[in-house]
Amino acid sequence: MERRPDHILLRLKEAGFSAWFVGGCVRDTLLGRPIHDWDITTSALPEEIMEVFPRCVPTGIRHGTVTVLDGENAYEVTTFRVDGDYRDGRHPESVRFVAAVEDDLARRDFTVNAMAMDETGAVLDVFGGKEDLAAKLLRCVGVPEERFREDALRMLRALRFSAQLGFTIEEETYRAIRSCAQLSAGLSAERVRDEVEKTLLSDDPEKVYEMARLGLLAEFGIADGEDKPSPAELPGLREVRWAGFFRAWPQASWERFKLDKKCGRTAQESAALYLPKRDRLAWKRLISRHGESVARCTAALSGEREAVEEILQSGECLFLKDLAVGGKEVRGVEGKQVGAVLGRLLAHVLEHPEDNTREKLLAMVKE
Ligand code: ATP
Ligand code: MG
Repeated sequence: MERRPDHILLRLKEAGFSAWFVGGCVRDTLLGRPIHDWDITTSALPEEIMEVFPRCVPTGIRHGTVTVLDGENAYEVTTFRVDGDYRDGRHPESVRFVAAVEDDLARRDFTVNAMAMDETGAVLDVFGGKEDLAAKLLRCVGVPEERFREDALRMLRALRFSAQLGFTIEEETYRAIRSCAQLSAGLSAERVRDEVEKTLLSDDPEKVYEMARLGLLAEFGIADGEDKPSPAELPGLREVRWAGFFRAWPQASWERFKLDKKCGRTAQESAALYLPKRDRLAWKRLISRHGESVARCTAALSGEREAVEEILQSGECLFLKDLAVGGKEVRGVEGKQVGAVLGRLLAHVLEHPEDNTREKLLAMVKE
């Protein structure tokens, strides 16, 4: 993303507020990783943020978040806040705005995510985040069990960040995940799905097996986590990684995970079709029957992408629409079912591409 937007902090400061970069962008700056969002936290209330930045969208006013538009860029600017009670273990009942940035940092999940940075690059680190970064540790801010009781998603986030960053989960935090795992049952499918997907797309997608072993996916009918084929070998595409997931757990369902239909169906169908190897004709039949997207995804799962691309580029007849004859011509032939006849011709042509001519096919129909 674009470089650090110091001018946004300075504008807030000139207006008399305090303001910091916060969360993932601070962590990733210190790690030298690419930064995709510059999140800002400030003492200004939402209405005050909107006065300082007339070009803005009140995206989450109730939680204190205003999206500030700045040329091509957009930044989430959020008032210092603490969360109210989490009666249901997933959504705070309310948020309360507070005066000190330290209080805002204290509500954050892990020490490495709970640092703030000013426009000079100076880092405010109240919970030992720098030390944990150096030791590559994910450690809860505060008492882990309490933090997981407030919001069970944090357990899945711990696994997700450990997969993305290559970090270890600190011992006490890990023990608390073991003892609180069943609380994940109350989470919304969408929130769990997003963490599973980020894990699947990370460099260490096998961490989903650990999620399963810990019981964090039990609500989805996924409990075991013994070793399965590693999704790490698969191309880093959403539907292919999900296909790897459904290959490991055929009983899981894309609908339960609230995946979008296109990705979900393709992934699940491909997982069901998975075979370690197919010959060219078998691939052609699969493409013909299941369509291009499923065929590409299944091929990726089998490490045979080139074979399928070659077929798709070959110009050979794969679908009814590619046959040299259509329904009209076949209809003239007495006593024959059009659909069945075309199906038979297609099956023949898949095996004998050279026979896909009007003459040959009409001759076959008349036989
Ligand atoms: P990413 O690179 O994936 O965006 P991130 O650290 O920015 O990582 P986000 O989910 O975007 O993660 O959240 C931004 C920040 O908000 C986090 O760094 C953390 O400080 C805080 N945060 C987000 N979700 C929670 C949560 N469930 N509990 C406590 N703090 C949270
Ligand atoms: Mg983020």
